[in-house]
Amino acid sequence: MHSTATPTHCPYCALQCGMNLAEGGPHGVEVVERPGFPVNRGALCGKGRTAPAVLSSRVRLTEPLVRSPATGRLTPAPWEEALDLVGDALSRARAEHGADACGVFGGGGLTNEKAYALGKFARVALGTSQIDYNGRFCMSSAAAAGQRAFGLDRGLPFPLADIPRTGCVILVGSNLAETMPPALRYLTELRENGGTLIVVDPRRTRTAEQADLHLAPRPGTDLALALGLLHLVVADGRTDERYIEERTSGWEEARAAAMAHWPEHVERITGVSVPELREAAGMFCDADAAMVLTARGPEQQAKGTDTVGAWINLCLATGRAGRPLSGYGCLTGQGNGQGGREHGQKADQLPGYRKLTDPAARAHVAAVWGVDPGSLPGPGRSAYELLDALGGDVRTLLLMGSNPVVSAPRAGHVEERLRSLDFLAVADVVLSETARLADVVLPVTQWAEETGTVTNLEGRVLLRRRAVSAPPGVRSDLDVLHGLAARLGHGKGFPTDPEEVFEELRRASAGGPADYSGISYGRLREDDGAGLFWPCPAEGAGAGGAVEDGGRREGAGAGGAVGDGGRREGAAEGAPRGTPRLFLDRFATEDGRARFVPVVHRAAAEEPDAEYPVLLTTGRVLAQYQSGAQTRRVDELNSAAPGPFVELHPRLAARLGVGEDDPVAVVSRRGRAVAPARVTSAIRADTVFMPFHWPGEGRANTLTHPALDPVSRMPEFKVCAVRLEPVEEVRPVERS
Ligand code: SF4
Repeated sequence: MHSTATPTHCPYCALQCGMNLAEGGPHGVEVVERPGFPVNRGALCGKGRTAPAVLSSRVRLTEPLVRSPATGRLTPAPWEEALDLVGDALSRARAEHGADACGVFGGGGLTNEKAYALGKFARVALGTSQIDYNGRFCMSSAAAAGQRAFGLDRGLPFPLADIPRTGCVILVGSNLAETMPPALRYLTELRENGGTLIVVDPRRTRTAEQADLHLAPRPGTDLALALGLLHLVVADGRTDERYIEERTSGWEEARAAAMAHWPEHVERITGVSVPELREAAGMFCDADAAMVLTARGPEQQAKGTDTVGAWINLCLATGRAGRPLSGYGCLTGQGNGQGGREHGQKADQLPGYRKLTDPAARAHVAAVWGVDPGSLPGPGRSAYELLDALGGDVRTLLLMGSNPVVSAPRAGHVEERLRSLDFLAVADVVLSETARLADVVLPVTQWAEETGTVTNLEGRVLLRRRAVSAPPGVRSDLDVLHGLAARLGHGKGFPTDPEEVFEELRRASAGGPADYSGISYGRLREDDGAGLFWPCPAEGAGAGGAVEDGGRREGAGAGGAVGDGGRREGAAEGAPRGTPRLFLDRFATEDGRARFVPVVHRAAAEEPDAEYPVLLTTGRVLAQYQSGAQTRRVDELNSAAPGPFVELHPRLAARLGVGEDDPVAVVSRRGRAVAPARVTSAIRADTVFMPFHWPGEGRANTLTHPALDPVSRMPEFKVCAVRLEPVEEVRPVERS
């Protein structure tokens, strides 16, 4: 390792690859391999490798911007003036319209400390219920389904290292080869060890090409596919009756729902043939141990919770959950998508994954915050509903770490709502498409310039360490919240030191489902920073226990509040790390049993018709990340992925009369997007695909449907009806 290298983590996806940052290179700091970190063992994708370019980008914001009343333009202003303006706007909205006129919108990339501070800021300094975050658009359906079935949501209830040791993996709606390339090796090793891989995806992606069996269902029909597989498992007598009897409840209703989905019927719904269904069911049941892993494909639907529930039912019926090397897991997407949903920026949650509606949870957190439990507001609106309410009863918005103008569904409408606000304040590192609409823009620090914790997709809590100084004129999000809280009459309670915030977070989370009370910065620095898995209670503390000393009792139970999913495998391995594996003894439900939930297939919110005859599905590409606010500023990534495209089958292209790179208009009931055609037989002929990383004319989310899942409130990003039209020319995409 370089003598002055700092071990830290990538700023992007939920794998949170370990890397070292050393002085040098054109950006002042360069990425050096960190082979000792167990998740990625030194491997990085191009996004992580080039992340330092964003630190010194020429478009980096280094001073606050304030919209001039005279010119209407954003112009530089001193920090105190900018914070005064935001504080005044929030105070005015609250005084004139009530606390809920103030909205707060966070992000799944914020550290645990920032997410915690943002939730506290909303509920204590503003007193508003109107807070949610873009993580709602990421994994909320899997979280809701996990809560419903297991009583607890942690993306993966086992470490990634278990994957190569299982017998069969069904990977549903994930293109790991492009979204998390270093994780692909776990699937490669699975196959090298004799295991089998089934990939479910409407496209033959680079990941699907690795599979023993690729099933390509029509978008929006994964739920029916899972029910068809469960039907076959039951019909073939391959359920695990003893497991069902001993460890689950609700089987009869779920079984009856599955038996109504005959394979031939499922074939008509999904387009996946009965022989393919039989082959998949056989591969899954033949393995001694097996897993189902889902990602955005099944989750980003208006029936996402039920769809994930159907896959969980398949796992439960075959005894594949809460057993070694078996289980259901969600491949969370955003960098801190897991931690971001545990510590209070979600509309219905308090820190520690506590429920805002639970009187005991309110009392516990209110005591840590030094406020009356009755002063805490109740649950607010979900992300899309909050964005849709802007300019209505929500008059002023503070937004951190999100770019909904590109990433929200029905983005044209969301942009209109943002423009209709009385006041918009945005904290960001660059002038994102959303920041451009703001009245005040606050330039903030980013990953390598600040210290904080993140929780990766395995529930592994990690310390991201500061490696470089921030540019002069830039402040941290914690500084921003401190300054605004002081202006709202809360001069205390919003520290700017991340470790101080984390110490408070530990106390607030103690005894909750996501118990961090046994985790400290000191412990996170140990063992080459390999991290600790929550729940990780403090020494001597049962559920709800106080944090006294940073907690070294690795063998401790997870606390009755979560039903102790945790067999402490780490203790047996001699390297205690909290709770790497959940549910091995019991699930986190009241009776310790996993719950089957009966689910049935239903149509997408918008099915094709004569006017809009084609299905659109959206997703990601290797060289860009989410709304592209950071990655579109990196030359190497832009060269690899310069703009949006419309992927379509040769038969569809021929019907339209378009060839490779010809501009194509994709039109839905919400708007029109134009991008060059990419013609490939790797996609179904009834479906087109667009990546969603770009703004402007090629913005895929102009088209997407905002129908919401009734449980998770996840929008229907993955399926809507469109028509295609050839066009004369395509204008270049704006990149600055
Ligand atoms: Fe790893 Fe994800 Fe970063 Fe790529 S983007 S280096 S996969 S954490």
